[in-house]
Amino acid sequence: MNKGGVFLLSGPSGSGKDTLLSALFAAHPELLFSISSITRPMREGEREGEKYHFITRERFENMIEQDELLEYNIFVDNYYGTPRKPVEEALQSGKDMIIEVDVNGAAQIRRKLPDAVSVFVMPPSLAELKRRLSSRGTETDELIQKRLQCALDEIARAVEYDYIVVNNEIATAAEQLYAIILSNHLKTDKQMELMNEVLSTC
Ligand code: 5GP
Repeated sequence: MNKGGVFLLSGPSGSGKDTLLSALFAAHPELLFSISSITRPMREGEREGEKYHFITRERFENMIEQDELLEYNIFVDNYYGTPRKPVEEALQSGKDMIIEVDVNGAAQIRRKLPDAVSVFVMPPSLAELKRRLSSRGTETDELIQKRLQCALDEIARAVEYDYIVVNNEIATAAEQLYAIILSNHLKTDKQMELMNEVLSTC
């Protein structure tokens, strides 16, 4: 059996990660997604337990104390974190799990799981990023400015990633992302069982 892997997906707010992930999961429902726990208020259109668990600061700080998070970070005044247990379960079951995480969270996970494959989703241009951030209509100008500054800081750290996918055309970007997942299955260290089987029949 091919062993699954952990795939870290980062990219600035407005890079279109959510749409890209929707396209990927629609085409490959066998992939697992890590649902983050966060303290930011729910936006219109979001639902509890779909992409995020919306929890209180108190509960989040309790999760930190109990070591229930694989990583966490503060982004624009709110906590965002990856619950540890579902990731460990995915690794044990041999399934592929996608973890959407910011650049600091990705660095924390890389230290703990050095085999994790990391992918940075790049917006096609800065102008397009600005347009996407303002067109959301759910946030104040001040928040949009903060998100834009964070976006520039994150883009400067794309070099830390194994792969960069430019999110210009969703279908193409989703195909490229899946190609990365597939190629991970073909790595020699994921195919030792097959090697042993072939050699044992000699
Ligand atoms: P948003 O508020 O736009 O949903 O997300 C803000 C940022 O938090 C995005 O860059 C997103 O990738 C990141 N993020 C989402 N989930 C997690 C998480 O579990 N941990 C960390 N460190 N960042 C996350």
